[in-house]
Amino acid sequence: MNISNTPAKDVINFMSKSPVVMIAIGSIEYHGAQAPLGTDYIIPDYIVSKLAHREDILVLPSIPYGNCQSIKEFPGTINIGSTNLINILNSIVDSLLSSGLKKFIFINGHGGNISALDQVGLDTFEKGGLIATVDWWNLAKLLNPDYDGGHGDIQETSTVMAIDRNSVNLNYCEPLIINELSNEITNKYITLHNYKNGNVKIMRSFKSVVPNGWIGPYDPKNSTVELGERILKDVIEYIEDFIDDFKKIEIN
Ligand SMILES: [Zn+2]
Repeated sequence: MNISNTPAKDVINFMSKSPVVMIAIGSIEYHGAQAPLGTDYIIPDYIVSKLAHREDILVLPSIPYGNCQSIKEFPGTINIGSTNLINILNSIVDSLLSSGLKKFIFINGHGGNISALDQVGLDTFEKGGLIATVDWWNLAKLLNPDYDGGHGDIQETSTVMAIDRNSVNLNYCEPLIINELSNEITNKYITLHNYKNGNVKIMRSFKSVVPNGWIGPYDPKNSTVELGERILKDVIEYIEDFIDDFKKIEIN
């Protein structure tokens, strides 16, 4: 059930059955020239919309903004920072805890949100609630190695294409350029670097590492609607199963 467009009496009756609260959290940020700025918002918002029919889920409006400090140099990126995201989410959760709801699922679309979501999860636990967070892109690559991906590469571009074909223009794809720090210390991802047999994290902004704004194992120019549809189907099926077991957990 959707909290915002259902008669209030029906929502209040529904809340008395202790549904799991679900909310999508994203960002507005650069994902390479070919993909929409709303990639990280559009995908989790779509996933949640496909679960809204369930009788055990109370769906909240999605949050389109996130913490984009590392990528804010790219035009069009909107950064509300971790502190603001924590405050918004804690306020939302507190309001629903006071209405007697205790279980929440965050469907997250953006890696920069992870530390904030961890903080809200722990804050909520201390108040007697429980939050499960699904980082859909990490889940996808665990479900099938064919779904591996990075930021703005084939995984995200294909997935957002499958939701809205007109939001992507593959003709705009630019090559992967990585500004390495040295021949010995090389980028594994944006902050994670390879050195000898291990990894070391070195914080730099996205733009200083990848001036074209995307990074990942597979070029976004090969993105397809078909791949995106498979990813979405498998991720949604997994979350459906997870809800079935998450809702059975007893919280005192
Ligand atoms: Zn993204």
